[in-house]
Amino acid sequence: MRIDILTILPDLLQGPFSDSILKRAQEKGLAEIHIHNIRDYSTNKHKQVDDYQYGGGAGMVMSIEPIAALIEHLQSERKYDEIIYMTPDGEILEQALSNRLSLVDNIMILCGHYKGVDERIREHYITREVSIGSYVLSGGELAAAVLTDSIIRLLPGVLNDETSALTDSFQDNLLSPPVYTRPPEYNGWKVPEVLLSGDFGKIEKWREEQALERTKQRRPDLLNGE
Ligand code: SAM
Repeated sequence: MRIDILTILPDLLQGPFSDSILKRAQEKGLAEIHIHNIRDYSTNKHKQVDDYQYGGGAGMVMSIEPIAALIEHLQSERKYDEIIYMTPDGEILEQALSNRLSLVDNIMILCGHYKGVDERIREHYITREVSIGSYVLSGGELAAAVLTDSIIRLLPGVLNDETSALTDSFQDNLLSPPVYTRPPEYNGWKVPEVLLSGDFGKIEKWREEQALERTKQRRPDLLNGE
């Protein structure tokens, strides 16, 4: 899978992809993440990428020309399954969307800034708009990193234990059961006996019950299919 991220702050995106699972996924050749500076496509002599909004009002708007030029340049090189704009008024990111996006080959992600991008970009290039929650960030980079991470960890071979992503929260509409590691007792706080029993049938049953109980308590909406 290939993900191209379009940003005016490329440095902000170096960190999230140069460590741990996302780094390994790229080293193993399972995922390619390319970060593009929108400013490189500005023809303005000051490399300006924003302008005042028509109609007046506070806040600048990201201009159409450099973004359109960059999108069209990338489109001339390959076909994109989705061109995503990160935006607070998009569809809220859920596991089901990450699952679906993990099955495609090429994704472009556009990060906004200021008041957002010129609406004509959204109308004519963007195929999907995604929000990571009902709050406003200063820019789309952190949101793009969240979306990218949630997709890449699902690619076969990225996680060491192949089944691990499947037993995470939200798969099967359930939250994950509690987990423990050594020591078996700390400060008098004991690990549930069943996990030390070696009886994998019982352990599996306990985990299912715990996952269901936790979901009922914390996210009953998942059980109601909401
Ligand atoms: N004026 C916009 C509004 O009220 O909807 C907010 C713009 S915000 C300050 C700048 C950029 O941050 C957006 O264009 C978007 O790319 C990104 N952003 C902010 N909050 C986000 C969220 N919850 N999910 C995804 N992207 C977000």
